[in-house]
Amino acid sequence: MSFNCRFAPSPTGPLHIGGVRTALFNWLLAKKNKGKYFLRIEDTDKERSKDEFKKQIITSLAWLGIEHDGNEYIQSKNISKHVAVAEELLKKGFAYKCYCSEEEITEQKEKCKKQGIPYFYNRKWRDAKDLKIPEGVKPVLRFKSKISGNTIIKDLVQGDRNISNSTIEDFVILRKDNSPTYQLSATVDDHEMKITHVIRGDDHMINSFKQRQIYEAMGWEVPNFAHIPLIHSEHGKKLSKRDNASTLEDYIKIGVISDALRNYLLRLGWSYKDKEIFTKQESIDLFDLSGVGKSPSKLDINRIYSINETYIKSIDEKDLFEFFKEYVSKYKKTMDQSKENILLKSMSFLKNKAKTLEDIWNNAQYIINDKIEIGTDDKKLIDDLSKKVIKDFTNEYEKLSTLSREALEPIIKSLIDKHKTNFKGVGQPIRIALVGSRFGPGIYDVILSLDKSEVIKRLKQI
Ligand code: GLU
Repeated sequence: MSFNCRFAPSPTGPLHIGGVRTALFNWLLAKKNKGKYFLRIEDTDKERSKDEFKKQIITSLAWLGIEHDGNEYIQSKNISKHVAVAEELLKKGFAYKCYCSEEEITEQKEKCKKQGIPYFYNRKWRDAKDLKIPEGVKPVLRFKSKISGNTIIKDLVQGDRNISNSTIEDFVILRKDNSPTYQLSATVDDHEMKITHVIRGDDHMINSFKQRQIYEAMGWEVPNFAHIPLIHSEHGKKLSKRDNASTLEDYIKIGVISDALRNYLLRLGWSYKDKEIFTKQESIDLFDLSGVGKSPSKLDINRIYSINETYIKSIDEKDLFEFFKEYVSKYKKTMDQSKENILLKSMSFLKNKAKTLEDIWNNAQYIINDKIEIGTDDKKLIDDLSKKVIKDFTNEYEKLSTLSREALEPIIKSLIDKHKTNFKGVGQPIRIALVGSRFGPGIYDVILSLDKSEVIKRLKQI
């Protein structure tokens, strides 16, 4: 059996983290089964769809390594086909024109609200042979949903879902302006794209029941459905765009590495034994919808940081530097190219105290900036003893012909003895002089990462 999957975002806002996971699961299912994964941009809502969001969706999915097959499919280009299917449904008796005015619908909605029941169109025009068509009202086209019996969807994640057909209203498929609705467009496109598996959030369950009726009316093969539980915020609520870190861009901005985020999202609601970290290939080989849980997953930012930290520490330093450069060029100021070599060399220790690429950026400021600024609190720590330590260290350091940890260690040791202090008493003033802060990388790493002349210049400024 061939597998065709798709992710179908609406470009009405930045890509949400839940959507990214939906894309990932579709991509994995397709790749695992040597099938195709398509990206469909559902841009039929002309007012809310924006080109900038479309571009952002495409680039951020590519950033994550989720590449779609072929060109992206632009839904608005297929509208005439959607309308043609609506007309065919009308002709076959599976749809009807509804002439209810907007006031009438609003009235019905308010009535339901008062009674505390969900709004449900009263099917007034369904068999309206005797009703007089009102003047000046343009009709919408409604699908004639089944009224009796039950429908079962064999959901690949949720198991069998059974509902009474009477609970599905006669939903609109063409609006008054003849534009197709989501229910119609998505179904026609999924059919045309030969989609075999539709994986989407479980808030779409009811849509699947509606869309299934369109497939059946048209005599089309119904795809498999898999509804995945939504991602909730750390407080257990449905994740909304107002939550911090709810969009993919939020994570890219704080310097999360794509492999780490992909891995986190993979494990969010899916498991394989107790394996924690998966390479891209392993995730393709091992992914299976049977491993997807049925309850909502909670977003855990600390877990993302922790996985990111593991990646930062374990990946090849050259690769880490490439991630870092890409990150800096996107979100920070440009870096002087002459600093690239020393930064690359320094990845070996800069990565140690970093959970994100932004941490690396902050810890590398003493390399990136030629002028360092010493913070007020740190300045206060430079007392007379510190000044003496710095002076003595500068004298000894200047004499060194080879620069290495082995050469520096005896100097530091002798200064500890001479000034009757401890490692901090010597290391801290030197670090403040070189980095501008008492926090930062290890003192030997700092000294050895800078040019000799730069070290001397900074020490002498104290
Ligand atoms: N455009 C819809 C959404 O973003 C697509 C839902 C579907 O996968 O059919 O929610």
